[in-house]
Parts: sequence; structure tokens; C-alpha cells
Amino acid sequence: MSGLKSRIAKLIAADGPISIAQFMTIALHDSHDGYYATRDPFGARGDFITAPEVSQMFGELIGLWLVQCWREQGSPSPARLVELGPGRGTLMADALRAARIVPEFLDAIEIVLVEASPALREIQRERLSGQKIKWIDHFDSETLSGRSLFLIANEFFDALPIRQYVMTERGWCERMVTARDGELEFVLAPVAAAGLDPGKAEIGAVYETSPASNALAEEIARAIAAQGGAALIVDYGHNGGFGDTLQAVAKHKYASILDAPGEADLSAHVDFAALAAAARRGGAKVFGPIGQGSFLTALGLKERARRLILDNPDETKAIEAAIDRLTAGMGTLFKAMALLPQGAGKPAGF
Ligand code: SAH
Repeated sequence: MSGLKSRIAKLIAADGPISIAQFMTIALHDSHDGYYATRDPFGARGDFITAPEVSQMFGELIGLWLVQCWREQGSPSPARLVELGPGRGTLMADALRAARIVPEFLDAIEIVLVEASPALREIQRERLSGQKIKWIDHFDSETLSGRSLFLIANEFFDALPIRQYVMTERGWCERMVTARDGELEFVLAPVAAAGLDPGKAEIGAVYETSPASNALAEEIARAIAAQGGAALIVDYGHNGGFGDTLQAVAKHKYASILDAPGEADLSAHVDFAALAAAARRGGAKVFGPIGQGSFLTALGLKERARRLILDNPDETKAIEAAIDRLTAGMGTLFKAMALLPQGAGKPAGF
């Protein structure tokens, strides 16, 4: 049995069942055995591949998107460029390279990376050597106040903890994690959750909510409404509704959620409708969500690919495969949503 699993079992024996949110936080971020705390999960030999790891074009187009938003708001200086969960630092490296065509932007920004994992911070430090960068381990509006905020989050919100509720004869009961003979299993709370009303649903329906995601979206929106800026959230997800989307992935395959905590990535589909509602509460104007395929195509993915192929003819096949993956492959499950200040017009791509 993994060390982390037995520690979770002991915690449950002492304190009672824990929420799925608490389980996710421990499994992903425990400082000794947490999934993100200990490893680099990306790439062909890792557990999963993300869009910036598929092709440099992804980060480049996003870099240009950020620059364009910055210009449309009168090129505020100083400003701040923030990435949530930068992984290997690939998106940021590609975005900054593309942004070189507007040196005033690079001069204006302070770069802040929000990263909880010490292992990934180290990889980001190497990937972005030569850049002046500040790391923080969670977004807090205090450190991020006083400047316009240009923010990108790719496959970040799916990693934030969710809670699940199941519709029963008694009402919506929270799905918890309990332990029996050292094994972890799901169990329903005996009493219905008070004050929860996500709409009419059949017995057995699952309602997911991510209070951490919603609170963060509201906080980002508040900063953008007050100080100006733009946020781009790209992730896989849906636009509201019911269903169990919690998943574990290891070595590019679905894995058991409870069997080996810390050894598989845990994530859930992002509820864009909930994020949009939270962002509106925070005072931002919301654009999208739209499919990642349409978004990248509208930003000029095909034109960028043509240039890249001209410069690297040997790579033609790989570049065409990357376009296919970023548009058709990830196309509609993956979505892009933008948060802007109230007065702002429609940003590029939407
Ligand atoms: N954006 C990258 C990585 C996505 S994986 C890419 O597209 O390739 C999720 C990233 O978010 C990792 O860097 C992980 O360490 C970080 N992360 C996950 N939960 C976090 C949290 N609660 N606080 C800060 N960083 C977190």
C-alpha cells in the first residue's frame, strides 16, 4: 500500500470521512507524496500531454493575444503578466518569445508564476532562465494589486478540488471518501447537504461544484475590473449540468481514483457556467466559452503553421499533426473563456 494511502486511511480513522475536495488536495499536493509535489507529469513518457507541449504555436498565439489585449487597453505600464499552474514553463516561454515583436510590452510587465509544486518550479526556473520571474504559491489579490493584470491559466482549473453531491430520496448527499481495512472507498453522507439547490435532478444524479475554482475566478475578475487587464482560461469542461467527471490519469490511461493516491493525476471537468457566473459577480465582462479549435483558428493557427512549415519543411508532418490535435482532437471539449473589464470590446478569437 502506498504511504500516502495509509496516511489518508489513518486520518479518516481518526477524524471520519473526508470530502473529495480534501482527498484531491492531499493526493495532489501532499508535500512528501503528492502527485504534483513530487514529479514532472508531462510529455510522452509522463502521464499526460497538454496543448503547449503539443506545439509551440499554442503559447505563441496566446502571447500575441495577451499583447493585443494590453494594447487595446492603452498599453498600461507597469502591468503584470501572471500564469496559473505553468507546468514546465513551455507556454510562458513561447508566449514571451512571440511577444518580442512588441518590446514595450515586455518592458512593462512583471512576470508572476503561481505554482504550488517545488519540483515544477525548478523546471520552470530552468526553462525560463534569463527572465526575471517572481513565484508565489497561490493567487492572492494583495500581491497582485496595483497593476493591470494579464493572466493565463491553461489546464489549471481542472486540477482544483471539487465536491460531489448525489441525489437521493433524502436530497443531495455529499459523496465522501472513507476507509475500510486500509482501502479507501466512496460513501454518501447520511444527511442531505443543507441549502444546496442546483436544480431538478433524478435519483442518482451527480452534482459537482468547485468552490475553490469559483472563488478564484471571482477574485481574478475583481482584480481585472478594478485595475484593468485580461484573463484567458483554457481547459476541458462543460457549460453547467449534472454528471460525475472526476478522473484519475496515469501513463496516458484512466486509472483508479482511490487505489494509489499521489501516483495518478486527479482532475475534473471545469464548469465554465459556474466560473462565468463567479467572474460576473467579481465585476468582469465574460467572453465565451468557445471551443479551443475555433479560438485558435480565429487567432491564426493555420497562418502561423504555414510560416513554421516554410522555416522547417522537415517538420511538415509533425506540424500538421499538431494542428489536428489542437483543433479537431481537443477542439470542443477544450474551451477558452476570457474575462475583461466592463468597458472592453470583444477580444481577438471570440
Ligand atoms: N499549464 C501547464 C500545466 C497544467 S498542469 C500546461 O498547460 O502544460 C497543472 C499545473 O497547475 C501544474 O503546474 C501544477 O503543479 C499546478 N497546480 C495545480 N494545483 C495548484 C494549486 N492549487 N496551486 C498552484 N498551482 C497548482
